[in-house]
Amino acid sequence: MALPLHGLPPAQILDELRGLRAADQPTKGGRLFAYVYDPGLDGLDELALAAHGIAASVNGLDPTAFPSLLALENALVGAAARLLGGGPGSAAPGVVGSVTSGGTESLILAVKAARDARPEVAEPRIVVPVTGHAAFAKAAHYLGVHLDAVPVSPVSLRPDPADIAAAITPDTVLVACSAPSYAHGVVDPVAEIAAVAAAAGVRCHVDACFGGWTLPYLRRLGVDLPDFDFAVRGVTSISVDLHKYAYAPKGTSVLLHRDPSLRAPQYFAFGDWPGYTMINAGVSSTRSGGPIAAAYATLRRIGDDGYLRLASTTRDAVRGLAAAVEAVDGLRLMAPALTTVVCFTSSPGGPDLFVLADELTARGFHTQPQLRYGDLPASIHLTVTAAVAPHVAEFGTALAAAVAAARAAGPAQLPPEVLALVTALDPAALTSEVVAGLAAGLGLGGDGTGRPLPERVAAVNTLLDAAPVPVRERLLVEFLGLLQRPTFD
Ligand SMILES: *Cc1c(COP(=O)(O)O)cnc(C)c1O
Repeated sequence: MALPLHGLPPAQILDELRGLRAADQPTKGGRLFAYVYDPGLDGLDELALAAHGIAASVNGLDPTAFPSLLALENALVGAAARLLGGGPGSAAPGVVGSVTSGGTESLILAVKAARDARPEVAEPRIVVPVTGHAAFAKAAHYLGVHLDAVPVSPVSLRPDPADIAAAITPDTVLVACSAPSYAHGVVDPVAEIAAVAAAAGVRCHVDACFGGWTLPYLRRLGVDLPDFDFAVRGVTSISVDLHKYAYAPKGTSVLLHRDPSLRAPQYFAFGDWPGYTMINAGVSSTRSGGPIAAAYATLRRIGDDGYLRLASTTRDAVRGLAAAVEAVDGLRLMAPALTTVVCFTSSPGGPDLFVLADELTARGFHTQPQLRYGDLPASIHLTVTAAVAPHVAEFGTALAAAVAAARAAGPAQLPPEVLALVTALDPAALTSEVVAGLAAGLGLGGDGTGRPLPERVAAVNTLLDAAPVPVRERLLVEFLGLLQRPTFD
């Protein structure tokens, strides 16, 4: 794109944008099982968009200049706190929090607060089960904190609290667990983990980014899920994403702390320059009020009974999808589907999962393949939202047909020299040129349609699955770098 000499007419610009969107996966309609959260409620998008517009130009940099945003943030934090066992009359009456841009920022801030609460620790460490979200690793990387990963049982997909206890050292500033994990939708033994953290005098963060807005409702519906919120002694902070199961537009999450003293080291203050004294609760300084107002409107519109209904619809959809998986010979669930995830793998003699994912895509269902990791096999992840419910029967039919087609096709075949390259390669030897050659061979990159990937990606996933973790990371970094190039015309 080049800047036009004279500005263009609005209609033409909007046409351009709509044209670009045509290449995207469908964000509505319950056929995309990752990235998007759709309650399928009429009029909600329009409301959120209007609310976004009202506050888009407000700057969250200074809540005293824009008290509207302060009021909205305090209301969102209050709603999240109430839902998660905090607030007046609860076990955590002093709970406070911040609205952030997303789960990653919430986790970065939880780690920052824990690190800066212990300035005497020269080399701070955090303890996180391997099923903890990758954003903990990102936080550790950004903040110069060491991450001690604790394995999980390949059967229950949960860490043993004794292993968490054993991983805690005098330098540990935070223990984390998930409610539930993104990959498998499994709730960690939060009470036991919080107890070992408390016994060691260490903070315990519950990452409920994914499930914080559904688990309380699922429990009200009678689903047997463990305590995970501020009712659990020893839980010092909780994160919950509003842009996931609160069904708010992208750009809001909440980080809660049990009391203000736990939150204090989250803040950053700087007065040592000639400009304004900067005081920020989060990573950004200038922040749009748009996502915050949109989240507020969404919560107000759906309401407590609305979220209960959506959780009920979602639970029914999850049960239907899980039953469809169990009805197919050659597939098995990775874990009982008790939350909002259905995650399955192939049993011995079953279909190739990456080919199966392509066959499901060909039938209009977009799933998320997960690569094998340690003892854990490759799997297919489905994030289930309320909008999926009307498509459960159709998914079952598509799954059976896709499995038959995947069995008939067999696994993707990679040239042996390519396999040898990625399995033997030292990541440093993967130069940009080598990756560009591999990418071209696999049909990745521009094919002129605006889609960076070919229709079928089983070969790509098979390649990544075969590669050791550092090679996977290196390949994908190089590939993203190839995609992210400016356009000139
Ligand atoms: C999505 C997610 C995150 C990261 O959140 P983003 O909003 O994508 O930054 C962290 N933890 C869990 C469990 C998640 O599901």
